[in-house]
Amino acid sequence: MASWLIQTEGIIDHGNIVQFIGTQPARVLTQIVLHFFRNTHVNFFEEIVNLIESGKLDNEIDYGVGEVPLQTDKGDYRTPKITIASRSIQLHESFYSYQWSITYAIYALFLETIDYPKMNEIAGFEKYKISQDKILQAKDLFAYAKSLIVMYSEWNKDEMPNPERYNASNRDYIEQTNVFFTEGMKFILCHEYIHAKKHLDNLPESSCDDCFKDMEVEADNEAIDLLLKGTSPSNRFVIDIGVVLGVVSMFFFSATTTGRKHPNAEERLTNALERLAISDDSHAWAFACVGLELWDEQFSLELNWKGKGSVSYKALYYDIMSQIKQKNAGSQPIEGTTDGRLAD
Ligand SMILES: [Zn+2]
Repeated sequence: MASWLIQTEGIIDHGNIVQFIGTQPARVLTQIVLHFFRNTHVNFFEEIVNLIESGKLDNEIDYGVGEVPLQTDKGDYRTPKITIASRSIQLHESFYSYQWSITYAIYALFLETIDYPKMNEIAGFEKYKISQDKILQAKDLFAYAKSLIVMYSEWNKDEMPNPERYNASNRDYIEQTNVFFTEGMKFILCHEYIHAKKHLDNLPESSCDDCFKDMEVEADNEAIDLLLKGTSPSNRFVIDIGVVLGVVSMFFFSATTTGRKHPNAEERLTNALERLAISDDSHAWAFACVGLELWDEQFSLELNWKGKGSVSYKALYYDIMSQIKQKNAGSQPIEGTTDGRLAD
């Protein structure tokens, strides 16, 4: 009996209910992510089957398990990718941990530092209590995500927010994070799906950096189009935020964003936001800004956030983007593929 569905107090421990593959807490979402990916829109499962039958995509996801950091001994990353050799999409449970932790941190900081203060202001009293503990916990979890890039350590399921074992009193934060995480992963999987469908058999000359960049933008755009095909008014904001989180999580690998074979991360983020054609007052702008502020703190970039609170989050976003572009001018491109979204 799934009594946890209506549980309001005490500990919910999914690991006690079902046997999962792997050891890291986000393992509880592996199957859910694949379920939502297969159902990106109403005919998508058929499209996937057709691509598998044409030999362009393997019918298994190559799901890696192990208590390892994102960075491999060779210096590349265990981020989602697809290779010609196997034609299967590679995912790793350490990336699940990374992506979920970043999603939680940005969502909790959005609530505690942007959304609740705003609602309280409108209400004229403290309708939503701001929790310093939740803010600190979100920052700790972000620190954990960053640390996973280079060093593995165990996710403390009793102390830190996680999707496997949590107090029912905190379930809203956890379970809403699960929803955004699932959408972000869906976007990432759709991006790889487009590589399998359109790019693996038509890879450009390795010397043509711009050709690779164009390919990445095309994969992002067509992944977004797939997601948009599956929207309804009630899930639209979830998709917008999922896509933002799927792109923002690429920033934390490096202090600069200039790619040689990949478009700059900030260009990808702006491209995604514009492709989604989100409304001026969408929370997705604020989510993007929270992510960029964490990145600024991480690398002491000293971006100027003076507009915060006085202009819209859309305006603040474009202000920060222009500052990032100025900083990028003259910086050396990052070699290799920090986002690892397409291996050779
Ligand atoms: Zn890619």
